[in-house]
Amino acid sequence: MDRQDLIMQLQEIVGPENVLSSDVDLELYSYDASLDRARPDVVVLPDCTEQVSRIMALAYKEKVPVLGRGSGTNLTGGTIPVKGGIVVHFSRMNRILEVDLPNRTVTVEPGVITLDLQTEMLKKGFVYAPDPASQKVSTIGGNFGEDSGGPHCLKYGTTTNHIIGAEIVLYDGTVIQTGGKTQDNPGYDLMGLLVGSEGTLGLATKMILKLLRAPEAVKTMLAIFETIEDGANTVSEIIAEGIIPATLEMMDNIVMRAVEETIKVGYPLDAACVLIIELDGMPDGMDKKAELIMEICKRNRVREVKLARNEAERAILWAGRKGAFGSVGQVRPSYLCCDGTVPRTKLPEVLAKVMEAGKKYQLPIGNVFHAGDGNLHPLIMFDERDPDELDRVRKLGTEILKICADAGGTISGEHGVGLEKLKETRFIFNDQDLKFERTIKTAMDPAGIFNPGKMIPET
Ligand SMILES: Cc1cc2nc3c(=O)[nH]c(=O)nc-3n(C[C@H](O)[C@H](O)[C@H](O)COP(=O)(O)OP(=O)(O)OC[C@H]3O[C@@H](n4cnc5c(N)ncnc54)[C@H](O)[C@@H]3O)c2cc1C
Repeated sequence: MDRQDLIMQLQEIVGPENVLSSDVDLELYSYDASLDRARPDVVVLPDCTEQVSRIMALAYKEKVPVLGRGSGTNLTGGTIPVKGGIVVHFSRMNRILEVDLPNRTVTVEPGVITLDLQTEMLKKGFVYAPDPASQKVSTIGGNFGEDSGGPHCLKYGTTTNHIIGAEIVLYDGTVIQTGGKTQDNPGYDLMGLLVGSEGTLGLATKMILKLLRAPEAVKTMLAIFETIEDGANTVSEIIAEGIIPATLEMMDNIVMRAVEETIKVGYPLDAACVLIIELDGMPDGMDKKAELIMEICKRNRVREVKLARNEAERAILWAGRKGAFGSVGQVRPSYLCCDGTVPRTKLPEVLAKVMEAGKKYQLPIGNVFHAGDGNLHPLIMFDERDPDELDRVRKLGTEILKICADAGGTISGEHGVGLEKLKETRFIFNDQDLKFERTIKTAMDPAGIFNPGKMIPET
């Protein structure tokens, strides 16, 4: 179908004001938080499931690629329309549809901003747990697409543990419901398959999310270490002791410095790293757990453990952590956030290898990551305008993921595969594994129109 005809038919479905096709508009949808760029043919902003269904029926008839988009904050090229086609931007489908406190669920549209939902639920004394550091901007639809994690996912699990039902628009416009408010559902566990499928199998137009009671008490500590190794060993010892804090986040010196230049948290600039340790739950027994954690920190030569004395002190510690990625712009103009996961006990060894690799490619690396999950985020800092640096960054990114895979880990903790890690899937999957993934993709998307070129390498 000719592009102009496609635009006109989309305008009939959603109204002319909700179809974007100017050069400027398409440029704006040509990037996300990754390094790649490509323009779509057209962007469409539906308002309801019926419109999404009609868009898919049209796209299937005309064999045009379709890419769902939340806020475009994913870090792996998930929303780069490498094969052109239609971008379905969910920003108008941003309603909280039902809050069902007796059943502890909330039903939302995909364009709801994660933090907006969390703020609303907290007013009622409830929590939607997955908290990506991008929560101020990211959407629930994007969290669904990536199976996003966050600092509190150590204790509570990632998005897949919190989305219990969904309405999905399939490749030809058919609308299905899967999962629901009940504990168990007969049939295939489609929720497990769809969450984290990076927009390659269907578009979520409604989601039922699990709510938890807000914790009665919270204790947040900042443990300061002279070496990364001591900090990392503390992480595995805390968990080996049987304590699962809500959070165990690590930040190294280079990132602390960048944060201090922007947010002024009061991080110790002469230390090698800090751990943010947060306990939450019932007040009973919390002091005992905190004491045990202090002992473990001392065993690992901690310099000092500071306790946030009130909500304002806690908020400032978190502002530093959540603003860390943005702050590294102080060091170099661009960064590539690698995302690999290793068994916790391997953290010291793997971090040392990562820093060695950075030296080999002459690129600075900062680390700020979900240490409790063994989920590393080496931030490679560089200048995107320098093609030689860009080339070294890509090679270093691949080498870091190989280090993680070789240590018995994997190539993603929460950011997915997208476009960026297609060849690195070879580090963890063999031909048979990938063939089976392609079989699932073909069964659910026979025309190959959902986010083509992502997640599974082509043969
Ligand atoms: C500063 C910063 C910090 C970050 N911190 C974290 C973190 O702590 N943890 C973490 O996990 N990630 C983090 N991220 C990555 C990113 O924010 C998450 O992946 C987030 O979930 C993406 O949400 P989004 O709305 O921007 O989705 P988008 O980037 O727009 O889309 C992400 C994927 O979901 C698909 N998708 C979008 N909507 C739908 C839908 N309705 N149905 C089906 N598929 C859909 C898209 O096609 C795409 O493949 C961070 C990113 C930045 C820039």
